[in-house]
Amino acid sequence: MRFFISIIILLSLSNFLEAQRLTETNYDTTRMKANLEFLASDFMQGRESCTEYENIAAEFIASEMKKSDLGTFKENGDYFQKIPVIAKKVQPESSIIALNENGEITELKMGSDWIVQPNSFKKMDINEPLQVVFCGYGITAEEYGYDDYKDVNVEGKIVLALWGEPGNDDPEYFEGPKPTKYYGPSFKTGLARLKGAVAMLFIPDALLDQYWKYMPRMVMINSVQLADEPEDTTVNLPGAMLSTEAVKGLLANEEFEYTGLMEMISDTSFEPFMLTKKVVIDINVKRWEDEIENVIGVIEGSDPELKDEIITIGAHYDHDGTWDGVVYNGADDNASGTVAVLEVMRRLRSTSPRRTIVGILFAGEEKGLLGSKYFVKTYPEKDNIIANINIDMCGRENVDSLTSKASEETCAELYKLVQEVDDEMENMGFYYEPGVNSSQGTSDHASFAKEGIPAVYFGDKMKDDLHLPSDDANKINYDKIGRTTIVIEELIRKIDRLDNKLTIN
Ligand SMILES: [Zn+2]
Repeated sequence: MRFFISIIILLSLSNFLEAQRLTETNYDTTRMKANLEFLASDFMQGRESCTEYENIAAEFIASEMKKSDLGTFKENGDYFQKIPVIAKKVQPESSIIALNENGEITELKMGSDWIVQPNSFKKMDINEPLQVVFCGYGITAEEYGYDDYKDVNVEGKIVLALWGEPGNDDPEYFEGPKPTKYYGPSFKTGLARLKGAVAMLFIPDALLDQYWKYMPRMVMINSVQLADEPEDTTVNLPGAMLSTEAVKGLLANEEFEYTGLMEMISDTSFEPFMLTKKVVIDINVKRWEDEIENVIGVIEGSDPELKDEIITIGAHYDHDGTWDGVVYNGADDNASGTVAVLEVMRRLRSTSPRRTIVGILFAGEEKGLLGSKYFVKTYPEKDNIIANINIDMCGRENVDSLTSKASEETCAELYKLVQEVDDEMENMGFYYEPGVNSSQGTSDHASFAKEGIPAVYFGDKMKDDLHLPSDDANKINYDKIGRTTIVIEELIRKIDRLDNKLTIN
């Protein structure tokens, strides 16, 4: 009996010492800094999916896992999970040219003057100058007595139309401020095709105009999708979005110039009109089959009863590549989470967790959570995963701040453990945001939550440089990443101390 009591005392003492140890700075800042500076260096060209730089990043991560003596994903000693994808990219020689009546040419610059979504079409080479007709919003909606195509023939022409739809506060008219099916490009391009048009040019609304600086990067870089998912066929006809500046240039000296057009919009009384300028569109999209790769390291559980239960900890390592010769380094997003996961796995390796811990550095998050979607879809032991912990950005803002999101509705037990970590880590100013449905998140934890796996997300709230080339390593606070690793490690230990499986609500 005494023996058991001593064991219990020893165990509680070791728990106590562990808790003490965790509040100290026992993380390896030097290693994390060196790793992050490499991943977020200009050499790595923004680690974009379907570029060799994403492969180099994956090799680098695997070599770090090997140094930490992590187990491999497969029995053949491989840390990689290969993911077949289809990639598309607008070719740089693509062009849109406007010609006025005197034959003078204005070339609109790809990226700054116009953008397209490469997954919306394969080819758009209309090598002859075509007439352009302004057709309001490009909508026909009988139920609202609305028709932008009344008395106009757009056969063989390019339709110039406003993004969005007519609307006001009247819920009976285009459902008021709520977007209807008429809002986006799918309906409009489909209708324009039926009317015989060959292409569409869109005029951005105020919101798109406000975010224009983000648009070229978001839509002109590689578009990537999982190979086993159907390709987007919702867009019926090629469409490009012009910048407000480009629209102003196109409408200069026309029947209505840009300002006149905006006045018409406020009246919602459009008259279609033909521009005197013609437009030549020559856009080519390259499509190819490729592979991206998740990098996965494993610590096998030490308890024969519990080792089948799996705790996953993940972060995406890909980012946005380059645009116009500028590198989007993605230091905080998400080289910070990548080095944090590697550090947590390195430290856990020297302990003996009872359950199996799987560390996953995801590919293709910036392309639509591709790596995590593929992982949950194909992982043979998916049903044994009891939790996913996701880190997406943890190296910016105040060193003491960290936000977590989990859903009490999905897993009250995980929610409680996160709150406990919050209480214990109070000196780190760890903020908990309750009531967020993780499956609606915009990072990799959402892929797990959608499958009913309890998921929690950790991140900072860096806004200044988000998805901009200025998200650089020299702005990173390594102590913050270190503290994050302590919080994550403590949460993993808490889950691992449970004698029961996490209960899903
Ligand atoms: Zn991210």
